[in-house]
Amino acid sequence: MTNKIAKWEGIPRKEIDWFPTIDYKICIGCMACLKKCRQCVYAAKNGKPKVVKPKNCVVGCTGCQKVCPVGAISHPPRTYLEKLSNRKDFKIGCQCRGKER
Ligand code: SF4
Ligand code: SF4
Repeated sequence: MTNKIAKWEGIPRKEIDWFPTIDYKICIGCMACLKKCRQCVYAAKNGKPKVVKPKNCVVGCTGCQKVCPVGAISHPPRTYLEKLSNRKDFKIGCQCRGKER
């Protein structure tokens, strides 16, 4: 599945820096993140996940971060999105069942 959402809170998705970052010093290559994500954000490269389509990531989703067994994945803080949207009750619309932080 790919992410068809072009805007979030009226802001073009391409202008929003929301996507996972992997700490490869910690990652054990279990691929739980790749299996969790339904947006094709990840691809497997040399036994490790790689973020290949960062702008496919659903804004506000942290689903892959929550399933990582070693805490190797991070996202920007929620305050980043609060500042962008000027709202604290912004919607996430995640389809991968990741919960809002
Ligand atoms: S946060 Fe959600 S949409 Fe983004 S890469 Fe992780 S599982 Fe996929
Ligand atoms: S879930 Fe975590 S440990 Fe497993 S491959 Fe992804 S980043 Fe690495």
